Amino acid sequence: MIIGLTGGIASGKSTVSAMLTEKGARLVDADVIAREVMLPGHPVLAAAVQQFGNGILQPDGTLNRARLGEIVFNNPEALAQLNGLTHPAIRQEIKRQMHSYEEEDPQRLVVVDIPLLYESRLDNLFTQIVVVYVPRAVQLARLMQRSGLTREQAEGRLNAQMDIEAKRERADYVIDNGGEPAATKRQVEELWARLGLPC
Ligand code: ADP
Repeated sequence: MIIGLTGGIASGKSTVSAMLTEKGARLVDADVIAREVMLPGHPVLAAAVQQFGNGILQPDGTLNRARLGEIVFNNPEALAQLNGLTHPAIRQEIKRQMHSYEEEDPQRLVVVDIPLLYESRLDNLFTQIVVVYVPRAVQLARLMQRSGLTREQAEGRLNAQMDIEAKRERADYVIDNGGEPAATKRQVEELWARLGLPC
């Protein structure tokens, strides 16, 4: 069984996916995959260099993230070009990993953690999507605390994503992570039972 897991930045996706893997689920992490396609030797990085020039590389051949960020920041056309290179490869690798885990053990839960699942229109990969929700004020406070961003910077990050309330409305199942971790854990247990998984 496969579920998609999403939420907003700092809403608690990693926290919930850790609780699920602790119970025996397999995890596919879209952030890890997104980093892997930009590693030296990967064809996606090579294509990005062709598109944006050698300036996006450090002298040692690894990606200069800050430089690439400057190029696509405030340039929707460049961002669309970059996404056109990365998104198909990321999507393909997500599908490969989740189906390989499912084939390996069809009884086991496979959790696919994708921060921008709705924004990237990856919702059509799943029949069940779980949203890890916190109210915006909590999300902002946790993001500031975790990252040391100012309020203004943190608000900028939040505003660049689909609103957490809109994600909650679209979810098949909501885990409210606005309280204590123990309360979240109880909801994870409930989800586990609801999915008919063995204790
Ligand atoms: P995401 O993976 O969605 O970005 P995280 O799971 O990393 O979110 O959580 C964001 C931050 O909030 C982390 O610093 C984490 O330790 C903290 N956090 C997560 N859940 C709770 C909770 N229930 N209570 C307090 N802090 C939490």
